[in-house]
Amino acid sequence: GKAAGGLLEIRDLMVVFDGFKAIDGVDLSVGEGELRFLIGPNGAGKTTLIDVITGLTRPASGTVAFAGTPLPGRREHQIVRLGIGRTFQTSVVFEELTVLENLDLAAGFRRPLVSLLRRRRGVGPQVAAALETIGLQDLAEKPAGILSHGQRQWLEIGMLLAQGPRLLLLDEPVAGMSKDERERTGELLTEIARDHTVIVVEHDMEFLRRYASTVTVLHEGRVLVEGDVAAVQADPRVQEVYLGR
Ligand code: ADP
Repeated sequence: GKAAGGLLEIRDLMVVFDGFKAIDGVDLSVGEGELRFLIGPNGAGKTTLIDVITGLTRPASGTVAFAGTPLPGRREHQIVRLGIGRTFQTSVVFEELTVLENLDLAAGFRRPLVSLLRRRRGVGPQVAAALETIGLQDLAEKPAGILSHGQRQWLEIGMLLAQGPRLLLLDEPVAGMSKDERERTGELLTEIARDHTVIVVEHDMEFLRRYASTVTVLHEGRVLVEGDVAAVQADPRVQEVYLGR
């Protein structure tokens, strides 16, 4: 069921680098089961916001709570254990390992002891479920190095799913993908959002129109506009930051 308030609640967040306010008073509330898109021009603060949520960057002030638990001050691995997973622009896939081994390794990162005990008993249910969700069953025993760009992106999403997160943070998941791959990814995100909360940083407007409902627009470290994708796209303030430069 949906918790009262958001699964992720950010209030009055400030992040300062050498006196520069990269995040300048952001409020963000993302409800359980939402598929939320985060957009904004380069330098808007999207990566910084994700970095704060995942424990890479410490805020100067403000609150960040996940399922009621304050996040600032916690380390990256503690935040993973709380149930928050993210993808990076750079690949974390081991090319020499099989698709399945990559998923298994990712699952073990969250619960090393459980993974060790399970090693002799075959694939865990979370790994099997992740493999099925990303649709790479036929490639399970193949080295990840042979995957296409799109398949590799799906594997990275699968590696997050194998960790059993409640919240996934995805950084430009369709960048460099073919039209078919984008479509498959849109369906994948929609499916994942049935039982997870997902925040996606994505610029592709065509993709947003098809798969986004609520969009948050960041600009100069603040939330410029938030709402339904059609309303956000029609908003003159959004058009100005994207087209008026
Ligand atoms: P986006 O992801 O939306 O492109 P970023 O979060 O990467 O934006 O950056 C927001 C602003 O903060 C930019 O002006 C960037 O130059 C600055 N910034 C980001 N990280 C650092 C850092 N480690 N040190 C100094 N400035 C930074």
